[in-house]
Amino acid sequence: MTRLVLASGNCGKLAEFAELLAGSGLECVPQQALGVDDAEETASTFVENALLKARHAARLTGLPALADDSGLCVDALAGAPGLLSARYAGTHGDSAANIAKLLDALRDVPDESRGAHFYAVIVLLRHADDPQPLIAEGRWAGRVLQAPQGDGGFGYDPIFFDPAHACSAAQLPPPLKNRISHRGQALAALRQQLCSIRL
Ligand code: IMP
Repeated sequence: MTRLVLASGNCGKLAEFAELLAGSGLECVPQQALGVDDAEETASTFVENALLKARHAARLTGLPALADDSGLCVDALAGAPGLLSARYAGTHGDSAANIAKLLDALRDVPDESRGAHFYAVIVLLRHADDPQPLIAEGRWAGRVLQAPQGDGGFGYDPIFFDPAHACSAAQLPPPLKNRISHRGQALAALRQQLCSIRL
């Protein structure tokens, strides 16, 4: 088993990563369990933020590090909330407030113009100064509902409609969401890349 530090404190994501990495031969240890605090997400792209987080965790633990950055990008809002998804309404991780703000911003937008996608990038650094990070990305296209539906998942799941399954992301069974989601796609792509390198 190879130990990796997972540079995320988000419980929803920790559960998804654990399930997605099951059977991969990689043991993911959350950074809090190793005394690592959150890195500041100061960059202006998803991939740079993921690299900042992974480098911080790798430097402090001496382990290979896995980090992701993700968000919801809404067409009618020029890609917002995007990089600011976690703190769109001001307080980091206040999903109810984020959803309320987004629904308000889209209150006059009809269904056909409410297109959106979740985007995720996952990076793996073999060590803090690794000049060749593994980088994988995923996109999940759908639209923003007029009101929340379902109570599973986390973040914007209750207002993200998945056209392929005709329900919100919060109504999908977790294993199905993990397989089709932006993060699921990115992790599958990363696992593919891992086959050809040694940690
Ligand atoms: P990060 O922790 O900086 O990647 O923040 C990403 C934010 O985007 C989360 O806090 C959520 O608000 C949102 N987000 C990312 N992935 C998902 C998802 O699968 N479902 C719902 N919201 C998500």
